[in-house]
Amino acid sequence: MLGNLVRLALLVFYLVVATTPAVAQQPASAPSDSATVYFGGDILTMRGSAPEYVESLAVKDGKIIFAGNMAEAEKLAGPNSNHVDLGGKTLLPGFIDTHGHFVYFGKNLVDANLFDSADIAELVARMKKQAERTPADAWIVGFGYQARAMKEGRPPTSEELDLISADRPVMVVDSSGHLGAANAAAFKAAGISADTPDPTGGMFARKADGKSLLGPMEETALNAVRAKRPPFTGELAAQAITGAAEVWASYGQTTAMEAGLGLGNDDIGIVLNAVDKQLLKIDLYIAAKDSALDDTIAAAYTVGSQYNPQPSGVVEKLRAARPDLDDRYVNRVRLGGVKFWLDGSLDTAWFTQPYTENPGGKTGAFSGYRQIPDELLDAVFDKYWPTELQIHMHMNGDAAADQALSAIAKAVKKHGMRDHRPVFVHATWLRPDQISLMKEYGAIPSFLTAGIIPGGDAVVRLWGPERSAGAMAARTFLRANLPFTFSHDAPVSPTPSILELVDAGVNRLSGSGKVVGPDERVSPYDALRAVTATAAYQLKEEKSKGTLEAGKLADLVILDKNPLKVEPTTIKKILVLETIKEGKTVFTR
Ligand SMILES: [Zn+2]
Repeated sequence: MLGNLVRLALLVFYLVVATTPAVAQQPASAPSDSATVYFGGDILTMRGSAPEYVESLAVKDGKIIFAGNMAEAEKLAGPNSNHVDLGGKTLLPGFIDTHGHFVYFGKNLVDANLFDSADIAELVARMKKQAERTPADAWIVGFGYQARAMKEGRPPTSEELDLISADRPVMVVDSSGHLGAANAAAFKAAGISADTPDPTGGMFARKADGKSLLGPMEETALNAVRAKRPPFTGELAAQAITGAAEVWASYGQTTAMEAGLGLGNDDIGIVLNAVDKQLLKIDLYIAAKDSALDDTIAAAYTVGSQYNPQPSGVVEKLRAARPDLDDRYVNRVRLGGVKFWLDGSLDTAWFTQPYTENPGGKTGAFSGYRQIPDELLDAVFDKYWPTELQIHMHMNGDAAADQALSAIAKAVKKHGMRDHRPVFVHATWLRPDQISLMKEYGAIPSFLTAGIIPGGDAVVRLWGPERSAGAMAARTFLRANLPFTFSHDAPVSPTPSILELVDAGVNRLSGSGKVVGPDERVSPYDALRAVTATAAYQLKEEKSKGTLEAGKLADLVILDKNPLKVEPTTIKKILVLETIKEGKTVFTR
């Protein structure tokens, strides 16, 4: 009798436990030991070279346990499983960022957004809100106004910025990043007065009497003030990381990239803070800027001088603080590679043949700029080729690709061939002979397709017909059965939208609506592979990410429409409805 009672009590207990999740309609995000079964929509596995749909996907403990028919999924998931009816929506593997600047973007987010300020009153109002959310010991900073577009047609003065705060440093930077203004407290904190001489290549505006600063400043003068801004620590450091993760997840990304950690003097601290406090809800792959490049970057990129590059190696500094940062994720952060810049952007790309039309201000046979000497790149390969760290190289022109390929050839001769997967970042114009060599060395291009929209027309004009038609040669790579990925390079693209760059890879429409290089367009499926399966391969994470297969992480994205079934030029308008990282919802619309 007692035995029966115990058994009955146990039975009731089990029934309650068993039925609770179903009764409560537990969302997929709720922590649960039980499995979740997705069904009722297009479930696209992204496995293989042609689209493959499955009826259901079962997920448990953060991993995919089954992708296939419903009956089998239910059997494996067991009686306690949650059921998520997709209601006709589309489920895909979570998107993977193959070239973005997550930390840099996050730092921009911390500052007030001053884009499209109609006049100085609006700028001041937005900055007052910023003052409220800024810790008392931090500078109040805003970014993105355009002086010419504001009613007054000029930047704000020191006195106008004092309306935001007269005793705390206030600084605003315009959308170009080259012009700005500060209040008296900021000038004081930076040690700058009307007596300070203008630095070379810059200017502090002065009042008519010449005895006091007016507020506006240009170029190197702005950098001199900006360099004195205290590094992000504590709350601001956390805001940069959590803010960026919020944005990345809202575009369906479950893995982000910081491809240039160390451009900012506070980058390392920001990342270590995120690791220690477990701030990240999505994965972050880091390619660290190498110390050897400090001088070159400072000379070539204003961003370098803006942020005071680290005097010594970023990799070494990260590892000194966290020796466990290696090829595994530690609290969602992984040190996966190092980053080098070999040439400039579309108007300074380094070519073997001169520009078709010279960019503004260039005369003679101009063929762009080399950023680092061969010896330096060779030394880089000597140092990193034998390690697990991948080498990422920024390149737009074919001369830069030649430099990269010759450095790889020397490394292979010296250290042997290995599964290194060097990343050719942008790889915008490659010659056919270079593509063959890339195949030999297992090099992967990450095409900045998102850049076609703003840059496509200029590329056609400056690079000429051959180089623009063959730019970002996705279809050529596809035909040769070689891997390629697509990237947004945010904040170079203002938003880290994956579907926008998929759309760009499919349609290749420039800002003026011209198709740039129609022969290099790829199908929506192949474009999606470039941000899922192949993206995982580029990061050397294909064993755990990139497709919906048993054993991989339950990194998922739910879209309101299937990119393979809409009019291709509307792919960018598809909405991300939910992003799921290892079984947990990290974004919902
Ligand atoms: Zn970049």
